[in-house]
Amino acid sequence: MKGIIVKKPGGPNQLDWAQVPMPEPKEGELLIRVHAAAVNRTDLLTREGKLGYLTHPVLGIEIAGTVAEVNGESSFSKGDRVMGLVNGGGYAEYAVMPADRAMKIPDSLSFEQAAAIPEVFLTAYQTLFWIGKLQEHETVLIHAGASGVGTAAIQLAKQLSHAKVIVTAGSTRKLDICKELGADVLINYKEQSFDEEILKATNGTGVDLILDFVGADYWEKNLASIKTGGRWVLIGILGGSEVKQVDLLSLMSKCIQLTGTLLTPRSDEYKAQLTHDFIKSVDAYFERGEVRPIMDTAFPIEMAAKAHEYMEENRNIGKIILEVYN
Ligand code: NAP
Repeated sequence: MKGIIVKKPGGPNQLDWAQVPMPEPKEGELLIRVHAAAVNRTDLLTREGKLGYLTHPVLGIEIAGTVAEVNGESSFSKGDRVMGLVNGGGYAEYAVMPADRAMKIPDSLSFEQAAAIPEVFLTAYQTLFWIGKLQEHETVLIHAGASGVGTAAIQLAKQLSHAKVIVTAGSTRKLDICKELGADVLINYKEQSFDEEILKATNGTGVDLILDFVGADYWEKNLASIKTGGRWVLIGILGGSEVKQVDLLSLMSKCIQLTGTLLTPRSDEYKAQLTHDFIKSVDAYFERGEVRPIMDTAFPIEMAAKAHEYMEENRNIGKIILEVYN
């Protein structure tokens, strides 16, 4: 079979659609014939050799496809349409997935739409509810609102918690989509000072929860934007990882809970539990069309390099999909 490998750490030109060994499902795993995979920022970092926790020779952490083989007990059978996270190896014609984290694809969704769900919806669900403890009618600030995770988080915060959702993004086009998905307050961070806008929108109190994809560049403004006793979940470092000067007193005096998280290196058990809880809480919203995957564009998998460039240029709204014709 074929899969996308990284010839040597570097730019998108290092990606190659090459002949690779067929994966073999171990006990408790499914072999899946992949119809669509999706691109994630973690794939870009893995390609550059900047992450140590993914050692699979084939890129890719999420897929949608049909079950080709079941090893051991499982509620899934050959031919079932499934989506979910894999421990590497997703950009390929076949991949293996622990059966206890596979999700049935809702009948109304195509494989491409389904591939747009696992990583960003599970991350949004985990950070909003498991870590961020978002409560009914609280106020949440979601940075990079039109990103894959951002578009999922807006919908989940609105639908599951009726939260007041404040987003930042870098263009009117992106903010328009955020509004369509339910965001209440839209801030163009390239033209407005987001902390000032947030204080205006919250009567000077700040937000209960921040989903922070930006990190260092937003440190001071996030501190100014969060309510006393607020929760701040650090999910990404698009704006750098090193804060030059940190006054710990500012965290203490506002009684802030700051939590960092990465989903990919979490254990198989954690991912299985998260997936189960997510399905229980969100599946009905997908079935009713109240929550939907946001897909920007699809590339044939052979053009994965183009897909990586597209993400690096920050052009996507929602997910970039890789189609596998097998
Ligand atoms: P995405 O769809 O590629 O969108 C990222 C968007 O962030 C860009 O389109 C851009 O939109 C904005 N952005 C980029 N650089 C920025 C900067 N320096 N300052 C402000 N905004 C910036 O991304 P994604 O796949 O949803 O991922 C979003 C973030 O979550 C990434 O950092 C990713 O690594 C992280 N993530 C973390 C986990 C985890 O478990 N911790 C899981 C999944 C993803 P604008 O045009 O609006 O600037």
